Amino acid sequence: MALIKCPECGKENVSDSAEMCPECGYGIKAHFDLVKQRQLNQEIRQRKLESVRMPERPKRMNFAYGLAIFFGVGGLFAYTVLPGMVIIWILFVCWMCYEGSKQYNREMEKYNLALTNFEKYQQETVREQEYKARIESMKPKCPACGSTDIQKITTMDRAVSISVVGAASGKIGKQYKCRRCKHMW
Ligand SMILES: [Zn+2]
Ligand SMILES: [Zn+2]
Repeated sequence: MALIKCPECGKENVSDSAEMCPECGYGIKAHFDLVKQRQLNQEIRQRKLESVRMPERPKRMNFAYGLAIFFGVGGLFAYTVLPGMVIIWILFVCWMCYEGSKQYNREMEKYNLALTNFEKYQQETVREQEYKARIESMKPKCPACGSTDIQKITTMDRAVSISVVGAASGKIGKQYKCRRCKHMW
């Protein structure tokens, strides 16, 4: 027996074994009997559950899942990604062969020219060098160091730069950047 607070009206110091609350007439004993019964039921249920074990998945099922994933993903890869990769690889090899043979033929022609007509070969070599020099001189140069190793600043670069360092970006209003001395103009 203990003294409690009536769960209905809140009156203090009511015996928990009293049939009724002296204040409001609430069935105290019935109330606590029910509470005890519920607790007991809960405990019994708990104990019953503790004796039951969750089954483990059989090893052969794990194995089957493994096989399914391995061959499923592998098969999908073999039928989708792999052919694409093979095609790209073949195209790349063909392109390398083609470019290589083009360059080889050009150089072979020059070589043959040197064997048959050395004077013409010399003339063509000089002309080629002049042409290269002209191309080189037409390229924009860095006004600070004279390097032709420069990079055009794209709208994208500028946007990224501004978004990172804001209005302090040195790329605002600039079109080129020197890769050697980092000068921008
Ligand atoms: Zn009461
Ligand atoms: Zn420079």
